[in-house]
Amino acid sequence: MKAMNFYVLRGGYCDDDKEFELYIDEVPDVEDAPQCPTCGGTVGMIPYADPVVGVLQAGRKCYDLTKQLGGDVMLSERCRETFEREGLSGMNCFQRVKIRRVKGPMRARGCGEYLLARVSFGAKVDRVRSVLRTSTGVQCPDCGYAGIIEGYDRVAVDVDSWSGQDFFKLHGLPGPIMVSERAKQVCDRYGLSICKLIPAEEYGNSYYPKFGS
Ligand SMILES: [Zn+2]
Repeated sequence: MKAMNFYVLRGGYCDDDKEFELYIDEVPDVEDAPQCPTCGGTVGMIPYADPVVGVLQAGRKCYDLTKQLGGDVMLSERCRETFEREGLSGMNCFQRVKIRRVKGPMRARGCGEYLLARVSFGAKVDRVRSVLRTSTGVQCPDCGYAGIIEGYDRVAVDVDSWSGQDFFKLHGLPGPIMVSERAKQVCDRYGLSICKLIPAEEYGNSYYPKFGS
């Protein structure tokens, strides 16, 4: 079987070690978010008011693609056009962003137009290869929720369950936004700047200290 390369899209602090983040003025209440019909866990977010108004924190550069706090994606208009032309899939619910102010050396005009988008689920996490540690061993058959995620060593995608989307979230590990090799190549080819992209094999997370290791 051909090895599949996936990447994790990060936000917050980018490749230049500067913060790049949109602080949205009005964030919807989490309690109104869609729930899994089987276990009642939160499986999505409700849309923001349109347009999405906020303050952009940026260094000397405005990136084309980044992950937002809360799990949305922010992308430049140029980025959206390119993805559409190249047929990259997995993003939906595009909403215009209105940058009220830029905190940092950039001017709002120099940053161009941005959109906020949602990324849908597109595969299951491979729990074993990810070394996923959760607070309960019982997994919801619908959404993959298995209690609080305590940590994982890497992000391994269950390739057989992959829908083929270029941007996707994982059932059982909904935090990371996954990016296909093809999407990375499109960004490279068009010179689209990504806040941070980490090979999935190297992307681990541990919320609690591991004892005796
Ligand atoms: Zn569920």
